[in-house]
Amino acid sequence: MSFSKLGLCNPIVQAIKDLGYKAPTPIQKQAIPIILSGKDLIATAQTGTGKTAAFVLPILESFNKERQLRGKRIRALILAPTRELAVQVAANVAKYGKHLNLSSMAIYGGIDSEPQVERLIEGVDILVATPGRLLDLAHQRALHFDELEVLVLDEADRMVDMGFANDIYKIIDRLPEVRQNLLFSATISPAVRAIANEFSDDKRSKPAAEITISPKATTAPNIKQWLITVDKDTKSALLSHLINEQKWDQALIFIEKKHGAAKLVAQLAKRGIEADCIHGDRSQAMREKVLADFKSGKLKYLVATGVAARGIDIGELSRVVNYDLPFKPEEYIHRIGRTGRAGFTGEAISFVAMGDFKNLCAIESRLNHIIDRKEIEGFPVRKVVPVSILNYVRKSY
Ligand code: AMP
Repeated sequence: MSFSKLGLCNPIVQAIKDLGYKAPTPIQKQAIPIILSGKDLIATAQTGTGKTAAFVLPILESFNKERQLRGKRIRALILAPTRELAVQVAANVAKYGKHLNLSSMAIYGGIDSEPQVERLIEGVDILVATPGRLLDLAHQRALHFDELEVLVLDEADRMVDMGFANDIYKIIDRLPEVRQNLLFSATISPAVRAIANEFSDDKRSKPAAEITISPKATTAPNIKQWLITVDKDTKSALLSHLINEQKWDQALIFIEKKHGAAKLVAQLAKRGIEADCIHGDRSQAMREKVLADFKSGKLKYLVATGVAARGIDIGELSRVVNYDLPFKPEEYIHRIGRTGRAGFTGEAISFVAMGDFKNLCAIESRLNHIIDRKEIEGFPVRKVVPVSILNYVRKSY
């Protein structure tokens, strides 16, 4: 199936072709016609499935009719959990809409708001925003929602996990009742469902369509997953060994704690490996610089905390490493979805220590398969991690 068959106009189809996309992904095939019909949509889909284009393309299509915007007004609001994701989504809006006459921008915290306020004066067709900064600017009356037509909640589960649920309710309260709502989330937890229910309380007739894109269908084929059981105190030596021995060209390395990130960078440096890190305590300018260096290939090894790494989209990222295994299976799937994207093959390696056993059971139960284990010569483990129980159900988080 081609993109034009989905009802997208030539300038959009051309922009997609320029990016090398050959055919719509499953989520795009399903979501685009629903969104074009004007219905609300609740979609369960991970990063890496092409979900951004799935909502951006039909929004561009339906906005591609001349309309004079009043000052400080917006037509579509895309809420995203982190500044990195907001920047990423806005960059995609610009790419997909490059042949159209529509304006877009991203607003997020951590930087001076004045330039953002100035750009809003003229009005913006598509605004991508993190919830906190959006509310700040709305309180300052730097923007008004009375002309808003579409609301998108991107990575809704992550916004909830990061404590933005109240902000989202506050934002929804300010929006016109008649609008289209689109919600994308890796999982629909009760808190996400409650937000989705909020949509249907508004006075509109069309019920929301729901679609689910199976994570297995999207992540598994292109990502080679394997794990190594380790003792906590040998992790950094093992990482250096793998980088050197296996001649890794690139790796995004996930770590749990901010201070651990800087420490690991120093430990790698001692072994002659140049790495850098991003985490919440680094300035926005620094994070942007490090990310740009990683994307351009200047920096080969990037250590990141899970939150800081959200929204990182690197076209051909070859490898992610779970230096620390994440607590939640969704986070694991999300992380490994950073590699093996849209046609490229990737590798996801996890370091698993004895204390991670329950998390491993939860992850492998969710994947419904055991992840391949590898033993690395010279790194025998003192505390062996048992093989998982596949129907493991965690009592509580
Ligand atoms: P997303 O799930 O939106 O984060 O997208 C994952 C990656 O897939 C991004 O790098 C997109 O540029 C890319 N992508 C999205 N749609 C397609 C498509 N139809 N064909 C090839 N690549 C795509």
